[in-house]
Amino acid sequence: MDMLIEVKELIYRRRKGFCLRIDENGDLIVIAPYYATENDIRKVIQKKANWILKTREVVLRNLQKTKPLKFVKGESILFLGENFKIDFHNKSDVLLDEKNKVLYLPYGEHTTLYRKLKLFYYEQARKILKEELDRWSNIMGLEYTSFRLKDAKRLWGSCGKNGVINLNWRLILLPKPIMQHIVIHELAHLVYRNHSKQFKYFVSQYSSNYSEKEKWLRDNSYILQMFRED
Ligand SMILES: [Zn+2]
Repeated sequence: MDMLIEVKELIYRRRKGFCLRIDENGDLIVIAPYYATENDIRKVIQKKANWILKTREVVLRNLQKTKPLKFVKGESILFLGENFKIDFHNKSDVLLDEKNKVLYLPYGEHTTLYRKLKLFYYEQARKILKEELDRWSNIMGLEYTSFRLKDAKRLWGSCGKNGVINLNWRLILLPKPIMQHIVIHELAHLVYRNHSKQFKYFVSQYSSNYSEKEKWLRDNSYILQMFRED
């Protein structure tokens, strides 16, 4: 097939319309109905060319940002939406110098450092997210039953029917207003089990600029892929 945009995978399915997807490597996957001709496919791709190129650009840019850490002095690392610089010290724990935006690591092997850093993030996330949950549940007058820290791949958080709030530990990497937005969002699910207009109105009473924050989350969804070992 001669086409401006290369299709990495073409899948035929028993379905009515087309589905175009950009995978995690920025490649185009086309899911087409059985009856689709080459010309149909070419037309769909042409029609969606702008979207394909734009989405691919975002994916490739984000791929760059999720590169594994090398653990070298001066390397950038996220904490509460800010870039900290990695440095090393003669102690065995991880230390955060918030004033100078430096994250101190002990000397050690890559795998040890990785484990210690992740443990540090988990501990911080557990503490800060619990504080935020308690603070906002108080303000909103809502009660949750318990809180669990998760390592989910696609979700920032969820709210179980039993009133359990699940939050992704990577929320610790986001700017605080965005983190709070998600905490408020999940707490609001204790009342509304959907994303209706009423739900959004309720959330926006506690978290300003609802759509801007949602857009930020969409644009920065690559953070969900950070610190993955698989
Ligand atoms: Zn939701």
